[in-house]
Amino acid sequence: MITESITAVQGIGEKKAEELASMGIFNVQDLLEYLPYRYEDYQKKDLSEIAHDEKATIEGKVHSEPSLRYFPKKKSRLSFRMLIGKYLITAVIFNRPFLKSQITLGQSLTITGKWDRNKMTLTVSDVHFGTFSDDRKIEPVYSVKGTLHGKTMRKFIFQAFKQFSGQIPDPLPEKLREVYRLPEKEAALKMMHFPESFQVLKAGRRRLAYEELLFFQFKMQIFRKWNRQQSEGASLLYDRSRVDLFIQSLPFQLTEAQLRVVEEILKDLSDTSRMNRLLQGDVGSGKTVVAAIALYAAVTANRQGALMVPTEILAEQHFQSLKELFKPFGITVALLTSSVKGKLRKETLRLLSEGEIQIMVGTHALIQEEVDFKNLGLVITDEQHRFGVNQRRVLREKGEKPDVLFMTATPIPRTLAISAFGDMDVSTIDVMPAGRKPIITHWAKHGMLERVLDFIRKEIVNGRQAYVICPLIEESEKVDVQNAIDVHAQLSQYFHEYEVGLMHGRLHSSEKDEVMRQFAANQCQILVSTTVVEVGVNVPNATIMVIYDAERFGLSQLHQLRGRVGRGSEQSYCVLIADPKTEEGQERMRIMTETTNGFELSEKDLELRGPGDFFGNKQSGLPAFKVADLVHDYRILETARNDAAKLVNSDEFWTDEMYALIREILTNEGVLDKERLD
Ligand code: ADP
Ligand code: MG
Repeated sequence: MITESITAVQGIGEKKAEELASMGIFNVQDLLEYLPYRYEDYQKKDLSEIAHDEKATIEGKVHSEPSLRYFPKKKSRLSFRMLIGKYLITAVIFNRPFLKSQITLGQSLTITGKWDRNKMTLTVSDVHFGTFSDDRKIEPVYSVKGTLHGKTMRKFIFQAFKQFSGQIPDPLPEKLREVYRLPEKEAALKMMHFPESFQVLKAGRRRLAYEELLFFQFKMQIFRKWNRQQSEGASLLYDRSRVDLFIQSLPFQLTEAQLRVVEEILKDLSDTSRMNRLLQGDVGSGKTVVAAIALYAAVTANRQGALMVPTEILAEQHFQSLKELFKPFGITVALLTSSVKGKLRKETLRLLSEGEIQIMVGTHALIQEEVDFKNLGLVITDEQHRFGVNQRRVLREKGEKPDVLFMTATPIPRTLAISAFGDMDVSTIDVMPAGRKPIITHWAKHGMLERVLDFIRKEIVNGRQAYVICPLIEESEKVDVQNAIDVHAQLSQYFHEYEVGLMHGRLHSSEKDEVMRQFAANQCQILVSTTVVEVGVNVPNATIMVIYDAERFGLSQLHQLRGRVGRGSEQSYCVLIADPKTEEGQERMRIMTETTNGFELSEKDLELRGPGDFFGNKQSGLPAFKVADLVHDYRILETARNDAAKLVNSDEFWTDEMYALIREILTNEGVLDKERLD
């Protein structure tokens, strides 16, 4: 690290230093590592190489006197013909009338701009007079603040490299670089700041991405190793024969995939190290029963189990179904949410701390201070990505270091699973219970609403029920989208012979429960709702899911919503009502109609939206990468993970001089604090 202040770089005074500091640049190393966020391509091209609408640089001779026209408000248009090779094209320059006198017939000129292939016209953004200097072929563009210019930034960086050349330390030892033929750090940074070609740029980028992902994975692997060491001796001695009896008591046969993940989980429970496992499976793949088996196993080991879910509706539902499953086995299941109040709450907490309650189902309420388990052995969280990283941690620290299982119905693309959950083991249910009919999905424009409603009526006549999802609760002035309250009013009229329920997040939780109860009991046939029903709700008789303004939802969310139907033996349908304006939106609708496979969808979603948006917020715990891109650098990520895992578990990594700088950096970042170096 070159920790010298940036004022050591010639040309950077106190004032500029202040501006650079506001951009997060404090020392010379920061400056050298402040990478361009994009590049201008000034490499000369042949006309035939340029795509329609592409921005490109071409060279030729001026073939006509430029003509200038003025418009109102000081606007102007300068145009002239240019001969490029054997082609004659038109060059147009807006609002720079002064260039007229500088452009003369027969002159050689290099121009950059947007190419219109049909009109053979280049709309010029840059003109280069005289000979085109070679070092200006690919120009880095930096994000800058205040009075700083891109040009100044380039000058500073150039100067810094001049002064500090040969001093930039490389954390990657030669041994590692050789394996992948990676350039040294200093060379790679130069390739990023002053690329001679896009190939060179790519090579530099590859090296820096590898380094960044390697460090990221060091953290993951060290945390994982530490976690294992910490949790030794936490073996949960369950009773296998009782667990088998419980499995036999289920009303159905477990799928092969369910059996496999049950074994993986049971093995973790009996292992001496603490379980830290992610269970992923598509909506309806049957995760709840797997959770029930694991909880039951914990109880046979005389330990308590907890199931934490993100919403009260879901907590209530899981509570009911677990109570049902465990009834023949005489197990006490209780519910704790924020609406469990007063005396009941007190009593519940008391019974829990005395160990009278064996399985506790609840919301975030479970991780509050006042909640005290007697001997918590297993914690399961459902739809875990809705819980923040910190909540996950608090939960893990409850009780005597319980085993932890995270469940998610949003299949996580492999690349994200490695990154966000690289410190966990992953189990996957990739088979659906037999006899399920894939949901048929249609995409309808708003104009076809009437036909959609008729379709709903037909299903209701056959005894089925329908969900209608709206993006908003109330009418909004800003966006013209369907809101639940209005739609509820309309549909109540249209379907006056049936009951239409209304559900949204602003209802009190007891009201929500009541609506849900009515829908589950078929006391209302249509449920108009916002996305609060998205997670987990199970009403097998509902066979239609209609989603208004579907283009406003991401693929994962649409898939979750769609997963509310198709839970029984009847054929189910999903209708997306959408007139997407963007191509990406249309693509999403198309993908939805083409596949019901959650894994496929999540990969597509990641491609369309990028990793940041995938989890919806910053809770994912994913770091912001400077160079690496989780989608496109997937291969590098995998390599980095394997390398990091191998190194962290080797002796040489902890002792050899060639890894000293890596250790130093990790120590500075606090990663090695917890690691016992023995
Ligand atoms: P998930 O939580 O994964 O979305 P659930 O656990 O809610 O799915 O299961 C969906 C439905 O499938 C439930 O009604 C459940 O009883 C049923 N189910 C689970 N496993 C099986 C199985 N192996 N065979 C048949 N039905 C099953
Ligand atoms: Mg579930």
